[in-house]
Amino acid sequence: MHAELAADRIVDEAEKHGNVAGVNVIVGEAAPATKDGIRNSILKRKPDWEITIETKESKVRCKCGYQGRPKITGREEEFVHIECPKCGKQPKMTEGEEIVLAEVVLKDEKEDVAPGKGEDVGEEE
Ligand SMILES: [Zn+2]
Repeated sequence: MHAELAADRIVDEAEKHGNVAGVNVIVGEAAPATKDGIRNSILKRKPDWEITIETKESKVRCKCGYQGRPKITGREEEFVHIECPKCGKQPKMTEGEEIVLAEVVLKDEKEDVAPGKGEDVGEEE
């Protein structure tokens, strides 16, 4: 579900820039959506977009004083389980949860396509 929301946001944001050929998205490794989930959700709306996704490492700060990369102990679809590699407790995530539209690649030629809302996403399963 988060992937769909994030994809919607990315598509809407990208289309403000014009005639989009593709996007470059940065996904934190602890973001509430997987790279594949986001890619697939964007492709559902924009099958002809070229999508590049980069992962950004996460960082945490723990009460024990540890700062740096967390130990990732598991991952469900939209949730990453982390712990402090030093003391094993639940640290506070300071980086790595974001999903950011880093770059919009526009088509060179200006076609007569109105950027706008387009069709509804719909559930295509
Ligand atoms: Zn700790």
